[in-house]
Amino acid sequence: MPSATTSAVVHRNLDADFPRIVNGEGSYVILEDGRRIFDASGGAAVACIGHGDARVHAAIVAQLNQISYCSTIFYTTDVYEKLCRELVDSTHGVMKRAYIVNSGSEAMEAAMKLARQYYLEKSPPEPNRMRFIARQHSYHGTTLGSLSMGGHAMRRAKFEPMLLSCVSRVSRCFPFRDKHEHETDSQYVARLADELDQEFQRVGAETVCAFVAEPIVGAALGCVPFVPGYLKAMKAVCDKHGALFILDEVMCGMGRSGTYHAWEQDDGADPDIQTLGKCLGGGYQPIAGVLASKRVIEALEKGTGAFVHGHTYQGHPVACAAALEVQKIIREDNLIQNVADMGRLLSARLKDLLTSHPNVGDIRGSGLFWGIEFVTDKTTNEPFPSSLGVAHGIAELGLTKPYYIAVYPSSGTADGVNGDHIIISPPYNISPTDVEMVATTVHRLVVDYFASRK
Ligand code: PLP
Repeated sequence: MPSATTSAVVHRNLDADFPRIVNGEGSYVILEDGRRIFDASGGAAVACIGHGDARVHAAIVAQLNQISYCSTIFYTTDVYEKLCRELVDSTHGVMKRAYIVNSGSEAMEAAMKLARQYYLEKSPPEPNRMRFIARQHSYHGTTLGSLSMGGHAMRRAKFEPMLLSCVSRVSRCFPFRDKHEHETDSQYVARLADELDQEFQRVGAETVCAFVAEPIVGAALGCVPFVPGYLKAMKAVCDKHGALFILDEVMCGMGRSGTYHAWEQDDGADPDIQTLGKCLGGGYQPIAGVLASKRVIEALEKGTGAFVHGHTYQGHPVACAAALEVQKIIREDNLIQNVADMGRLLSARLKDLLTSHPNVGDIRGSGLFWGIEFVTDKTTNEPFPSSLGVAHGIAELGLTKPYYIAVYPSSGTADGVNGDHIIISPPYNISPTDVEMVATTVHRLVVDYFASRK
């Protein structure tokens, strides 16, 4: 087995020996040395039906027996048509067509270009619209366009001179750190909406394609849900200025939040464009997507009739077959209801066990998508410096005896550089017994980690 120095892989850390996974069985991954790890984060909130589901394997093989690849420049397939139809229908009339790519970053790139093309082709056209307003400390992907959209300082830092200048940013919606004392939810929402309105005016509202946000912020902040009314208020500002409202549901979508789409939890917050990813295919194949509303699609239909964009592997039939089967399982096994039910249980148990811990600043989330933010001091909520690697230290300890649990670590939570959180995003089919095991194991892990630092 190659070591860090002999490996031919450009790993995330070139000097680290990565634990090697040899198998996956349901909610567990098995490492080379025999450790059985409960996958409480589904990787990066991806493995929503667990690992090794025979039904998905069968669907993949059946598709491979029909056609393994075709170019969607010339052809379509039943599975591509069916998947897009299901995704569109899941929005109850909000969306008109879907576009399937391989990753969330690609989905964001496509969303940006779709928005730009909308303004070139609508009647009358508005060719000056080429700007985007996104949010601070956000993450929308790692390709140059999607990284430009993101506002995560640490992830942008080395590439800053190469990033697009057509993106500006407003505040995130993060009550734990940013809501003023004595401010009500509706006052906080009004303040954020006013800031967005001012940003439209500052950059010139007639130059803006869209405002872009994650309804529940995943990796950048650690499962921070929108404050009630926030999405609706931000959409109203977009409407006022004739701009599109784009929601990135790559991490929080497809049932993860307890509803099929997270935006369904705020009335009147229908997006014009939406991106999807992780739980679309549950990790069985690389697949992500973009949904476009009637407004956007009809402009293109009446305009050039073509979306000027494309990838060799878009609408890949094997990936579509896997996603169709994953979605069928979610539907037939009533898993979104389980996400909502088990999510309530998980949240209650995490809060019971961990709220009083001196280094736990906040526990927040929705459905089976929970973040725990760590602080040096509970009275000031001072974050840990990123150099200490707190979140990654907790995740690494989690893989060892007696915990054997995988949680997803991230840093930059407080200001894009400092601050740490872990994400707990177990499979949708988790049982109450496993919820209890996850909560008690995470509690023990956090207690032991901070005790060992003293
Ligand atoms: N958008 C959000 C909200 C994400 O969380 C991610 C990945 O974590 C992406 C976009 C990018 O997706 P991918 O890593 O599949 O390119």
